[in-house]
Amino acid sequence: MKKMNLTTKILLALILGAVFGVVLSTITSPLIKQTLMLDGILKLLGTGFLNAIKLLVVPLIFVSIVYATASLDDIKKVGRIGSKTMIFYVATTALAIVVALTVSNIIKPGIGIDLNSVVLGQGISEVTSINFIDTLLQIIPTNIFMAFADGNVLGVLFFAVIVGISITLVGEKAEPVLRLFEGLNEVFLKLVTLIMQFAPYGVFALVATTFATFGFSALMPLVKYAACILLALGIQFFIVYLGMLVFIGKLNPKVFVKKFMPIFNLCFSTASSSAALPLSLESSDKQFGVSKRVSSFTLPLGATINMDGTAIMQGVAVVFIAQIYGIPLGFGDYIMVILTAVLASIGTAGVPGVGLVMLTMVLASVNLPVEGIALIMGIDRILDMIRTGINVAGDNVCTILIAKQENEFDESVYNTPTVHLD
Ligand code: ASP
Repeated sequence: MKKMNLTTKILLALILGAVFGVVLSTITSPLIKQTLMLDGILKLLGTGFLNAIKLLVVPLIFVSIVYATASLDDIKKVGRIGSKTMIFYVATTALAIVVALTVSNIIKPGIGIDLNSVVLGQGISEVTSINFIDTLLQIIPTNIFMAFADGNVLGVLFFAVIVGISITLVGEKAEPVLRLFEGLNEVFLKLVTLIMQFAPYGVFALVATTFATFGFSALMPLVKYAACILLALGIQFFIVYLGMLVFIGKLNPKVFVKKFMPIFNLCFSTASSSAALPLSLESSDKQFGVSKRVSSFTLPLGATINMDGTAIMQGVAVVFIAQIYGIPLGFGDYIMVILTAVLASIGTAGVPGVGLVMLTMVLASVNLPVEGIALIMGIDRILDMIRTGINVAGDNVCTILIAKQENEFDESVYNTPTVHLD
């Protein structure tokens, strides 16, 4: 029998995990369901896998960004790629919010909803509002070890960029340092390949846990809210991203969709952009034909600051909560939502559920009650799984387009039928 490749294994694990989770949710014995499965085997496999990924993320981001920044031939190129990437990320996020606001103003998800049937989330009173100046200040850590230890990815990223730039500026004398980072980058990518062998088990356990814990019954009263989000996510993916690939990149969008599937599956099961970063980096090189010099810079940056799916959820949530509380929003409010949701998306860490916490900042900016979050908490996890896929799709599309413009792209690799990851 032909050996199954990793991509197929992950997909199979996802389907089996979902089925297993649904079956598990019907089991009444707490000993089997809770103790043995949810708090036992599934937790061990799922959290074990996530821990291993998280273990890699911060050092991987650091090493790959230093390497990418330092290996771009000259400082002008760093500046050009850096600013193009930032413009792309911010523009697509702003567009995503506009799509979300438009869709939700047409569908009106918060009108005519029976509040008694909504499952309220717990612990909202503890959610403190996020201050956006503090979010920005995280970018400059006072102690780099603390930034590493706290998983302050924005801070680590900033430090990596300035170290990389300094290596380029020093030139010849810093050559050994560049080689060191090049080697470290390879080592980390190898580590990723090793850990990814474990992905099918992790994915199975994570998906089974979600399906056994988060009942779809919570979804029913909020179908319109969920439909708005799904529609806006669909527009962002199929029209905005694929349109950009076709019109700006002159590339076949079907190839992208096919090769992006395994990454999407991983996003879906982990609900974490950071968890999908290693696979994005690997695919970018082997599947999409993007040179590592570009992808090692744009992908970690994107996984940290570019969250279009999250911004879409925040846009829809604002309109939904405003409609429920009967608070009208004016044009100025919408502009404010676009601005704060772009910032919130930059400040959102690529792990499950943070988008919802950052929503407090967007709500506060237009004086909407933060408690409104309780209404949507119950179904957020399932939507998080999907929006994370869009977050990461945006990073990959940007990476491909920038690589193509910078002649760091091998179109023949992009067009070859899937090279399966090993
Ligand atoms: N889970 C999302 C991500 O990792 C962030 C969020 O929306 O909560 O991309």
